[in-house]
Amino acid sequence: MLVDSFGRVATDLRVSLTDRCNLRCSYCMPPEGLDWLPKPELLTAEEVVRLVTVGVERLGVTEVRYTGGEPLLRRELTEIVAATAALRPRPEVSLTTNGIGLARLAGPLAAAGLDRVNVSLDTIDREVFVRLAHRDRLGDVLAGLEAAVAAGLAPVKVNAVLMRGINDHEAATLLRFCLDHGYELRFIEQMPLDAQHGWRRDDMVTADEILGLLKDSFDLVEDDPRDRGSAPAELFLVDGGPARVGVIGSVTRPFCGACDRVRLTADGQVRNCLFATEESDLRAALRSGATDDELAARWIAAVRVKKAGHGIDDPSFLQPGRPMSAIGG
Ligand code: SAM
Ligand code: SF4
Repeated sequence: MLVDSFGRVATDLRVSLTDRCNLRCSYCMPPEGLDWLPKPELLTAEEVVRLVTVGVERLGVTEVRYTGGEPLLRRELTEIVAATAALRPRPEVSLTTNGIGLARLAGPLAAAGLDRVNVSLDTIDREVFVRLAHRDRLGDVLAGLEAAVAAGLAPVKVNAVLMRGINDHEAATLLRFCLDHGYELRFIEQMPLDAQHGWRRDDMVTADEILGLLKDSFDLVEDDPRDRGSAPAELFLVDGGPARVGVIGSVTRPFCGACDRVRLTADGQVRNCLFATEESDLRAALRSGATDDELAARWIAAVRVKKAGHGIDDPSFLQPGRPMSAIGG
């Protein structure tokens, strides 16, 4: 098992399939994009599946989430999902995506064994979308959401990040939109993971503020916290339920003590935390002929040294060298 020195067990594996993206969300990357990883450095589809297999078969991973960058840009995504769903014990297979291309791919992905999808949607206003993501693609995202429901990937979850002065006036509108369409909305506090290092704590719309904005329009009652488990979202019943909204206070209400996640970057590095400053190179080991046992041993060692918390509030906090798009959100 992947156990750290505080006794937490990592069972939820997040795998980044590419650092590339077709949007430029300002909390994530600059409008001009980034220097993408050179192709030879990316894990091949076979290498991804080999490492995921080691995670599932030998290390107790029960959930595999593909992310990025934008995972729908990865050509072999459907094959990777099918190979993951064929593992035993079968892990839950999910995807975090910006939704562009999902209109075409939701059906094939569901048929390949995808269980769930989270789609990121920060606004339903086309002009705000262009301002925030620097691309005029709102229509594609909305079509992707509808296709996900039609493909049976329910409950479709929506992730939203609010930025002060850009889309924070839309908190209630977004919730109304998601309720009307049967999507489960989760707001995520903006974290210091942008490539530009532009995050300022004072600019961040906090979980408390988000709840305040929602309570102006909705009756919110905290759902039974025992249902939360290791999930980071605090869940609230909306107007008596059963619909719920989640607020993920990654910065102001950290959930590190219950964290069950481990990450694999698109270039094959294990990260024991989003905010880790060190990585463990599984790609080099794999390409130099390591056995599954040796890969598992490296992975176990990488998780064992996981820190107690992300320390964003610590004066000595250092933003990780790699941005969210390269780590895998
Ligand atoms: N491109 C896909 C997407 O946007 O869903 C997957 C990768 S993206 C890095 C994963 C999630 O991280 C998205 O929901 C996005 O909103 C979130 N995210 C990116 N940068 C963030 C930041 N600085 N703080 C909080 N969430 C962030
Ligand atoms: Fe792309 Fe996702 Fe980052 Fe937006 S949050 S720029 S969609 S990787």
